[in-house]
Amino acid sequence: MDKISTNYIDSKENELIELATKIWEHPEVGFHEVKACEWTAEFLKKEGFDVEVGSFGVPTSIRATFGSGKPVIGLLGEYDALPGMSQKVSTKKEAVEDGAPGQACQHNLLGVGHVGAAIGLKKEMEENGLKGTIVFYGCPAEETLTGKGFMARGGAFKDLDVSFSWHPGTSNIVMRGTMTAMNTFKLHFKGITAHAGGDPHNGRSALDAVELTNVGINYLREHVTDDVRMHYSITNGGQAPNIVPDKASAWYFVRALSREAVVDTYERMIKVAKGAAMMTETEVEVEYLGGCYNTLSNNVLGDLIFDAMNELPVQNWSKEDIEFAKILEETKTNKSGVFESGEVGEQYLYSEKPLNIYSDSFGSTDVGDVQHLVPGIMFMTATANIGAAGHSWNNTACAGNSIGMKGMIFAAKSMAKAGLKILEDPSLVDKAKSEFEKSMNGKTYICPITDDIKLPE
Ligand SMILES: [Zn+2]
Repeated sequence: MDKISTNYIDSKENELIELATKIWEHPEVGFHEVKACEWTAEFLKKEGFDVEVGSFGVPTSIRATFGSGKPVIGLLGEYDALPGMSQKVSTKKEAVEDGAPGQACQHNLLGVGHVGAAIGLKKEMEENGLKGTIVFYGCPAEETLTGKGFMARGGAFKDLDVSFSWHPGTSNIVMRGTMTAMNTFKLHFKGITAHAGGDPHNGRSALDAVELTNVGINYLREHVTDDVRMHYSITNGGQAPNIVPDKASAWYFVRALSREAVVDTYERMIKVAKGAAMMTETEVEVEYLGGCYNTLSNNVLGDLIFDAMNELPVQNWSKEDIEFAKILEETKTNKSGVFESGEVGEQYLYSEKPLNIYSDSFGSTDVGDVQHLVPGIMFMTATANIGAAGHSWNNTACAGNSIGMKGMIFAAKSMAKAGLKILEDPSLVDKAKSEFEKSMNGKTYICPITDDIKLPE
């Protein structure tokens, strides 16, 4: 047993690569992944899955299932691209089309990696008469951190017993730490315009209100826990210096390692905004855009995926792969600062055995929402040169060539293997669930995508 899934994934390797390449060649941004969604759904249908597209009030979502009864194993795919990140499969920074989107977070691999796991595990179940259900969720718009929140609001994910999430990366690691929860919102201030020189006393500046809000937020930083991050940009600062702005807006993110800290800080930021409105005699409108949960790593599932990865051979890089990565490393146009070439020496592509990483990270992912509904784990495999910065052209380039594809196939096999361990020993689900209950500590999931939020255009 267990060679069946990996053999089947090997036999389907070309088709999986073809699908990932097609999605790479046709990058679509969040909630607009029409083709990626259609092609992924078609592929799974052909492989014998029951496929629903566009459920949960989210047109580019997929729910594809095989089997029946428990345990129910969830695989969370994504396919959205990033705006402006177009890049050829090249070691030179060169867009396929200037300004067009590109797979700089490698979600073309991400979606198809989970498809590979789903079809491998299905084969294994059929050949061995194993009971259980595989659910592939195609999740749009991870980059806005709300795709899974919208799906959860519509009822997705709670059918699962466990969930596996793989993300492309620069090393083979199981992520045991926490990624931050997040809220995003805009503040729109309304004041009274006036001639800035002639009768400024009649003006009530909306821009002053934005600036005072930001001053207040910057003072707030001292009185929040260390894990809190607040960022903003001014999206409307008025028209010209000689006109007192009657309208001004700013856009905010607040992140922290717990959802509670995010919600608490968010409420305090709103108080600061109201204070600024009072000081400037302007009005403030809060446009809450949604948020996501922090991740909640399940160690029972972490051990399963870690063992599965270690039982498999790591990516077999070719001379061409290493040469490609080496040139990318040498371009040094990315300033990730994580790995400088000097530190990695001759290593341009990660080729070590998989590791566990316990440190927290201050990025966010909507995978956290699912991990607060059911037990889940996230892991990465190397799909790019070792120093590739997140959301960089290095990633777009590697997501379209054999470096990305090898990492994707390795991830698919790892998830199929981990899934099989659960089907063979369903008591693992109880263990994962009891750890989950303990970590939730009596809390329930409150969807950050409130009922009033409309799906973005
Ligand atoms: Zn991503």
